[in-house]
Amino acid sequence: MAALRGQKKSADEKAAEAARHAAIRAQAIAATASLGVQAADGAGAIDIEKLADLLGAEIVYGDLDGAKARVVQIGDRARIIISKKIVGVGAIRFCIAHEIGHLLLKHYAQGDALGRAFKRQRTCSPLTSDGSEIERDACVFATECLMPTPLAGPMCQVAPISFDPVRAIASAFATSLQASAMRFVELTSERCAVVYMQRGRVLWAKKSPGFQAWIPDGRAVEPNSAASDYFDDGHLEASRVLPAATWFPRETHTKDATVYEHMTAIPEQAAAFSLLWLPRA
Ligand SMILES: [Zn+2]
Repeated sequence: MAALRGQKKSADEKAAEAARHAAIRAQAIAATASLGVQAADGAGAIDIEKLADLLGAEIVYGDLDGAKARVVQIGDRARIIISKKIVGVGAIRFCIAHEIGHLLLKHYAQGDALGRAFKRQRTCSPLTSDGSEIERDACVFATECLMPTPLAGPMCQVAPISFDPVRAIASAFATSLQASAMRFVELTSERCAVVYMQRGRVLWAKKSPGFQAWIPDGRAVEPNSAASDYFDDGHLEASRVLPAATWFPRETHTKDATVYEHMTAIPEQAAAFSLLWLPRA
């Protein structure tokens, strides 16, 4: 679920990726709809375990060295293995949906230790993605499957003065706060970003479509920010209203421009993420 990073993409590459993601989203909607998993009135969290079952995938919980989840396919049966170390229903649901994405999008790494051609498997860490195209594609699938645009979209057309819109998404779709915040940023027309930080440094940022400000990877967390509360003192949640230049020093701002920050800690990853909102002048 990482944002794009690394080298800049050309306009053609961006267009190709957007088209591929659109096709993946359509596949996610079709999968849930055709199987009748989504509640008839479109309300509520989808039963992701039932979807796995209907696709012939058994879900088991086990020890996975370092990884979060694995999918193994043998013939027309599949097994999704979720690490016992994953904390939280939302994170588990995201991993299951991500692995279903690999199955339906046919993302297999070939072979296993025994080299059996009929057995295919893939091991991954959907919550701390390696940023590869296949991993991002499976996350696009999982996001659309769990938080479909037609339902989540209207929940994002609000100004995030508080963290409430993100909580509302997490509660409606039984997703984690991080996945919900990232979905909010994808669908909102406000200028927002989710910034993911580990050990006091920015690892990546995911910005809303209308948000251009520069947030460099690797930058140390700003001392006055809400995120610094967690890295300094272990606060699990904090909100701040700060001068816009605190987070976006390179931008030119109007004199009283402010940025709203809501930080949520993820202690099991020694990490935190902040939802930033830069109101339009
Ligand atoms: Zn994966």
